[in-house]
Amino acid sequence: MTIHFPFDNTYARLPDRFYARIEPEAVTAPRLIRLNRDLALHLGLDPDHLSSPDGVELLSGNRVPDAAEPIAMAYAGHQFGQFVPQLGDGRAILLGEVVDQNGIRRDIQLKGSGPTPFSRRGDGRAALGPVLREYLLSEAMAALGLPTTRALAAVLTGETVVRETPLPGAVLTRVASSHIRVGTFQLFAARQDTEGLRLLADYVIGRHYPHAAESDRPYRAFLDQVIAAQADLIARWLHIGFIHGVMNTDNMSIAGETIDYGPCAFMDAYDPATVFSSIDRQGRYAYGNQPRIGLWNLTRLAETLLPLLSEDEEKAVAEASETLEAFAGKFEAAYHAGLRRKLGLLTEREEDPTLAGDLLKAMAENQADFTLTFRRLSDAAAGPEGDEAARNLFINPLAYDAWATRWRERLSQEPQDAATRQAAMRAANPAFIPRNHRVEAMIQAAVEQGDFAPFEELLMVLSRPYEDQPAFAHYSEPPEPHQRVYRTFCG
Ligand code: AMP
Ligand code: MG
Ligand code: MG
Repeated sequence: MTIHFPFDNTYARLPDRFYARIEPEAVTAPRLIRLNRDLALHLGLDPDHLSSPDGVELLSGNRVPDAAEPIAMAYAGHQFGQFVPQLGDGRAILLGEVVDQNGIRRDIQLKGSGPTPFSRRGDGRAALGPVLREYLLSEAMAALGLPTTRALAAVLTGETVVRETPLPGAVLTRVASSHIRVGTFQLFAARQDTEGLRLLADYVIGRHYPHAAESDRPYRAFLDQVIAAQADLIARWLHIGFIHGVMNTDNMSIAGETIDYGPCAFMDAYDPATVFSSIDRQGRYAYGNQPRIGLWNLTRLAETLLPLLSEDEEKAVAEASETLEAFAGKFEAAYHAGLRRKLGLLTEREEDPTLAGDLLKAMAENQADFTLTFRRLSDAAAGPEGDEAARNLFINPLAYDAWATRWRERLSQEPQDAATRQAAMRAANPAFIPRNHRVEAMIQAAVEQGDFAPFEELLMVLSRPYEDQPAFAHYSEPPEPHQRVYRTFCG
């Protein structure tokens, strides 16, 4: 039996210098951990076939499906501010593209499928823990409604990968609108390959930003739209307490999706200086720095586009600067609109950002849990009898009371009734996020005991983050002091 992937590949049609053709390396004993059946159907793939032994051969890289044209994509990037002229897929292989049921072209990529010409000193492999982490977090982000890469499958390889210790190996099948990054543009710019750059820009416009092609300044329109997409994405990260952790330019998707789930994490107690990543010693990628870093990365993108913006360098720089200046406004607008939704405000008033900012300040001063505070506010929105649960999240509950009085005053100016407001707030404030201590416990059970039940359960709960699930209320709780996770690690 052969499984038909309806591949329709376009990136592999670009010139050779965009990638390296490379086959996945076979593994000894592939075993399916999980297949995302709904996503498979959405991609036009047969989930029963994919979960059969034959399908698992494909998902582990043991066999390449018909019509696949496996490639490792070439890219460069700034890592923690340092430019690295050659990165590329060192442990990922793009099998090809399919067009999903919405007519959107999606990459299907194996991650952890063996070495490529871009592996440098790496082994091209992925350990089970990071594969489960990416599967869970990316699917949680999708359920929360954020643009993100998705997880189609996770398989065990039956082989060991050596990190600090020997660990079970795994392969993730990742799905993305594309895997083109800011770093992909940087690769061509650094080589002064303007032809390559133009080909890439035209490709991306055709695939992701077709409206830009209709503009009389298509490259400028393209840059505008990437800036808008990233401003919106980063605002949404802040709304749910997400910290990406490695916002290097090679981890910033041109399509505006969250990509590369390494040491990323969700914040428990609100503190804008929160950092989890073990490799982020300076706090460059702290929660509250993400908008600033987003702009820094977009500035690197704009620099690569200068030769396309105008033949006159001065004009090109002026145009790029003007475009970049719009980032702050776009980000602020998206950020404050989201905060208003979180606070149940349908209308917009000048003082709203101050009201929201003062809540965040009180939360930071009182170590209030970010996710639970907003979820409890959704209940308090129905009336002051709901205040108790919210105020108890603050070390000093009086700080909440003082703020809540102002909030109620503001709510009284809103047109909708309390029930409508509460429903809207509950749809903006999740009850469930992937709490670090739960994620770590899930990984530990899988890696140390081969027990995937916690992974399955957590995945199920996180697939409905905005619903109260009383039987799983414990998953919504912040960690006890002894359960707290302070550091997360790359795979
Ligand atoms: P990341 O920190 O995940 O964004 O990865 C940075 C670069 O290192 C990318 O080019 C990856 O493909 C590469 N890389 C990460 N881990 C490995 C590995 N185990 N083997 C080969 N390359 C890797
Ligand atoms: Mg990366
Ligand atoms: Mg990574």
